[in-house]
Amino acid sequence: MSNKIYILGPCAAESEEQIMTIAQELAAVINANANENDNEEEVRGKNGVPGGTIFRAGIWKPRTSPNTFQGIGEQGLKWLQRVQDELGIDTATEVSNAEQVKAAANAHIAYIWIGARTSANPIAVEEIANAINANVNANVNDNANVNVNVNVNEEEGRGESEEVRGKNGVPGGTFKGIGIKNPVNNDVSLWIGNIERLERTGLPIMAIHRGCNHHPCWEMAYQLRTLRPDIPLLLDPSHISGDRRLIPNLYQTGIQLGYDGFMIEVHPNPQQALSDAKQQLTPEELAELINVNVNDNANDNVNVNDNANVNVNVNANANDNVNVNHNVNANYNDLLWLRAMMDEQDDAIWAMIDKRMQISKQIGEWKKVHGVDIVQPTRYQDILQRRLEWAQAHHISDQTIQQIMDAIHEESVRVQS
Ligand code: PEP
Ligand code: MN
Repeated sequence: MSNKIYILGPCAAESEEQIMTIAQELAAVINANANENDNEEEVRGKNGVPGGTIFRAGIWKPRTSPNTFQGIGEQGLKWLQRVQDELGIDTATEVSNAEQVKAAANAHIAYIWIGARTSANPIAVEEIANAINANVNANVNDNANVNVNVNVNEEEGRGESEEVRGKNGVPGGTFKGIGIKNPVNNDVSLWIGNIERLERTGLPIMAIHRGCNHHPCWEMAYQLRTLRPDIPLLLDPSHISGDRRLIPNLYQTGIQLGYDGFMIEVHPNPQQALSDAKQQLTPEELAELINVNVNDNANDNVNVNDNANVNVNVNANANDNVNVNHNVNANYNDLLWLRAMMDEQDDAIWAMIDKRMQISKQIGEWKKVHGVDIVQPTRYQDILQRRLEWAQAHHISDQTIQQIMDAIHEESVRVQS
């Protein structure tokens, strides 16, 4: 699985059996990959987060409707502990408030992440950062008096405080790292602000790009990567797409763009999942995805021939991957990002044209009912005139606007007829 970070597991913890089943199946996939790829020493460790696999499951689910599954609650933390203890895989769960931070810390969960809805609220993120700090400081400063964590664990007979504090490499009450998803509202400044809030905890931070409203919003991630290249950037194709059929393409794009890792939802029986049923993969689908596609150097080798069309410092042997230097790769990576952004804008343009044609059709029906002619020349002249004025302000040629508007109008008349 190379040196990337993979956060894998179900959207939500649903039962102990579901968690242990999927964790065992994922452990098999992870081991198969580790054997194939025995360069563990090379695991890179960006910003203190080592490459490797983390098992995810949501315990408290921020759902749109109160009438849907809201998460299993604190009892699920014990199941994640079992995964850590019995299978030796670090686990991660989402936290949305201070109380959940404490509960996760008490359960020695290795990683926590902040979801896209919470990330849109800086006061909530501040509260979470303070709660993490309180736990970290309580444990670092005061061995004798170690707060709730040790007490809880002693009550449960989980051993001496020293042992508890060192368990699974996670000091009692603190975490190995924190993930922060982009805010749902496509705001890179807030995403960065949240990273800064969490950095005050002194723990390693990962940025998780999950898009907005089922669009990737590549530009937001590109800006984050440009402004904070030190922070590992993970792609979450599951939440970006909301549709398992779109995951392979997004994953491949993530590899090409040079993401540091991925968060992907995997469920033993996705159709039966209590949340996000449409976007979860089976362990077999996941194995296929990462085995087929994992190629860290994809960036360096894919389509380098394309440089022939592009004026980036390519030397005489543009067709020869071996001779492409680092500088060109860095530039080429920027080109791939720009293309991803452009493709997303094209998708948006065509979605809007489609929407416009649907409205046009409704107008056509109205005209039919009211006996009005389909073509209203003055109305079209008004629309065109407004667009030509707009084009001048945006330095687009009159001719281009005229051609585009004529084509749209022609199609509009066709759908109304
Ligand atoms: C999740 O990871 O299950 C989740 C709720 O994600 P997001 O916050 O990105 O919607
Ligand atoms: Mn989910």
